[in-house]
Amino acid sequence: MNTSDDLPSPVPALFPARGARERVDDLLTRELANANERIARGSVMPRLDMARFRQELAGFDFERPQSVEQLLAWSVAQLEHGAVHMTHPRYFGLFNPAPVAPSQWADRIVSAFNPQLASSGSSPAPVEIEAHVIRAIARRAGLPADAAGHFTASGSEANYTSLICALTRAEPRFSAEGVRAFSGPVALYTSRECHPAWSKIAHQAGVGRSALRLVATDGNGRMDSHALAGVVARDREQGVVPVLIAATAGTTGGGMIDPLASCAAVARSQGVWYHVDAAWGGAALASERLRGLLAGIELADSLTIDAHKWFATTMGCGMFVLRDAAVLSEAFRVATDFMPSNASSLDPYLTTVQWSRRFLGLRLFLSLAAAGWIGYGAHVERAVEVIAQVKSRLQARGWQAINDSSLAVLCVVPPAETGEIREIVRNLLSSGRAWVARSTFEGREVIRICATHGETTLADVDELVSALHTAG
Ligand SMILES: *Cc1c(COP(=O)(O)O)cnc(C)c1O
Repeated sequence: MNTSDDLPSPVPALFPARGARERVDDLLTRELANANERIARGSVMPRLDMARFRQELAGFDFERPQSVEQLLAWSVAQLEHGAVHMTHPRYFGLFNPAPVAPSQWADRIVSAFNPQLASSGSSPAPVEIEAHVIRAIARRAGLPADAAGHFTASGSEANYTSLICALTRAEPRFSAEGVRAFSGPVALYTSRECHPAWSKIAHQAGVGRSALRLVATDGNGRMDSHALAGVVARDREQGVVPVLIAATAGTTGGGMIDPLASCAAVARSQGVWYHVDAAWGGAALASERLRGLLAGIELADSLTIDAHKWFATTMGCGMFVLRDAAVLSEAFRVATDFMPSNASSLDPYLTTVQWSRRFLGLRLFLSLAAAGWIGYGAHVERAVEVIAQVKSRLQARGWQAINDSSLAVLCVVPPAETGEIREIVRNLLSSGRAWVARSTFEGREVIRICATHGETTLADVDELVSALHTAG
């Protein structure tokens, strides 16, 4: 028993003294920079012997404390050898970026302070910084000055939020009674080329996966707005209640942009919530040259834009933006007496899916403030140029482009003599020279190539093209 009137010392492994802590911080900074350089020279693909790794991992029984320096070195090594490298300049992958430096610095600052963003009472400055960034994004998209929104863990959370808002606005009794409040089964509409998470979202929201209507596309990966109008009208005749139309601005498979204005017109004429899922493509708003491609986005009731995709912040950093903020307060309201609320402002725990919340918005705030729209515009345009270079080089070797995207995604098929897509992708990945995806576009098997690294060079493009062409 402790008879002194002092407390036991803090656990040094968890709360090291300042000097010890700074040594480890500095060591880690150097080790990460070294690892980053090695990654760019090495394989895009993991090279870990998983059997050995699992054995090592099983050895961590947490019975004996270990040296943190060794643990950090071990952790860096597992990430260096045990994951596909988003930070490799020849990762032509699934919208996962090499993260920009200001976002990494933001994470460091936020980790040090660990503010709780549930309420503006706890975190007045962080809550306002986030709201400021969201308003800047909303204005850039052409939404009215009083548009609002919040950061989310992901694009999926933002899309889920759009459905909850749509249901809440469509039927005031939804809040109390759920979907039983509607006069018939509800439906939501997106295209066949939409992000597959929409079916999970329908499930989670309790409307059921069968409520999701996958509208036909036009042969070039974009929602057919006439087909959309037809499906909605037929549903209405059968007593179904349409609640949400979600157009995609930058499809995951092919980087295609649905006809945003025509889809908006269908939604307006039907009195249905109009959401634009611009999880990846929304970053094109930064570019003066490309933002016109998103014309019609300003008609949305709500938007999804992921900062962790083309804005290249660290994961996960989504955004939900909406025209009428009052819907959020209705959808996520709750009564508590323990929260340090500030009645004059909108507390995130009262307007969003999450409760405890990380300060995500500093990532985009710092990056956008450091680079400006002009810097992000250049970043986005550079990616489009990288893909244009890949496309012309592959076409010169007889490859055929299958999609016609103005953004940074290319879907191609090889000339017959080069080999089967499945083989080509498998051989390319096992060579570790570059990463691309096997995918489908408009029902056709393709190789999908997306520029996700802000420092990819023409030499990387040449290496990709040669690796692809010889991979069959
Ligand atoms: C990536 C993506 C999503 C899902 O976003 P997460 O952040 O991965 O949850 C939704 N829609 C589109 C169009 C996407 O590209």
